[in-house]
Amino acid sequence: MEYRFDARTGRKVSLLGFGAMRLKSTAGNVDKDLATDLLRYAIDNGVNYIDTAYLYGNGSGSNERAVGEIIESLACRDSVFLSTKMNRLVVHSREDMEDMFNNQLDNLRTSYIDYYFIHNVIGFSDITSLIDIGLIDFIEDKKSKGQIINVGFSFHGSFDDFRKILDLYDWDVTLLQYNYLDCNIQAGSEGIRLACDRNMSVVIMEPLKGGLLAGTMPGEVQALIDDSSCERSNVELALGWIYDTPGITCVLSGMNDMEMLRENISITSDHESNPLSDDELLLVDDVRDVLLRLNKISCTGCNYCMPCPSGVNIPDIFKLYNDKHLFSDNKIFGINQTLFSYAGNIMGFTGQAHDASLCVDCGLCTSKCPQQLDIPDLLRMVDKSYHASLIRPFIPVLKRIMKRVL
Ligand code: SF4
Ligand code: SF4
Repeated sequence: MEYRFDARTGRKVSLLGFGAMRLKSTAGNVDKDLATDLLRYAIDNGVNYIDTAYLYGNGSGSNERAVGEIIESLACRDSVFLSTKMNRLVVHSREDMEDMFNNQLDNLRTSYIDYYFIHNVIGFSDITSLIDIGLIDFIEDKKSKGQIINVGFSFHGSFDDFRKILDLYDWDVTLLQYNYLDCNIQAGSEGIRLACDRNMSVVIMEPLKGGLLAGTMPGEVQALIDDSSCERSNVELALGWIYDTPGITCVLSGMNDMEMLRENISITSDHESNPLSDDELLLVDDVRDVLLRLNKISCTGCNYCMPCPSGVNIPDIFKLYNDKHLFSDNKIFGINQTLFSYAGNIMGFTGQAHDASLCVDCGLCTSKCPQQLDIPDLLRMVDKSYHASLIRPFIPVLKRIMKRVL
């Protein structure tokens, strides 16, 4: 495992961090047997940074509780760094901060948090409104008692707001979305440089863009890879590109099966002596151009927008729509295969609500989306796109037939 030094404490942090957000779960409850196996393997192989949040899981600490139980069962609290986040959307007073933090210590079965972030900061006012109700006093109190070691914020807003927030407090750390597609949005490469100039640690989230950079690539991208001399896997290309960026302390990967975990550990262990070549960097530039053109909705599948009261499965619908454009060559009888998936889901074959037309525009989801997507508007676009297909006009009839059959 490669290690980097924490900017403020000098402690050795594994370059690969374990992101618990994508652990396999049912109704917000983590599959603890699988998660225990994964965490045990990760820790045994040198991973020492584990990231969770109050929001993950059921929105009120279920992911933290699972992580806390597992860390306790593995008796490894002192050999790992625990990272969690304040859900700022439900904090309205200094007392709320206190209550949430104490709750989080209980959830994680610990007396201190190594990395504590204000979660999902999108704009300058997200921090100033917390400062107005006592954030700085809260931070100073917890740090003086040794209950918070490093404090920072996870960020999805503009570079300008990032710069302004850095001026508000002497933050120890920041958590940024960064990957080879997203290097010029949000805080971006410039934000990483700025944080380093201020002697902050930089932790990275979404290194694989919700899996987009890890899986099967569209034909046009695969052709570029095949024509190049690159022999790395897609995951290695994406992680390696970040690892070679100066100033990165730790990269969080949401690893939810053993194969994925082993691959990520192996890549991270070997990478220092094997950085990306100039040709591979040029390949990444070309791949980026194609993916930015084909991937229509910048959804990372984080699930923060869920559940929708109307039962719309927002991330799945966006994935289907993106796949329609990314894999437009995949056709059945000359028709894009995602049209069949969409129609099948609407008809109730899967029992999941993939019907974009169910959105009633209540707006509940939009403020939760870290990518600041106009979700209702995008759902209208998706609905229109499938309505225009040859299949859509038959959906009401097919729905009625299915109702009778089921
Ligand atoms: S705006 Fe639409 S998708 Fe969003 S929560 Fe409301 S009904 Fe669901
Ligand atoms: S729409 Fe936004 S909140 Fe919902 S899964 Fe996608 S990125 Fe996350």
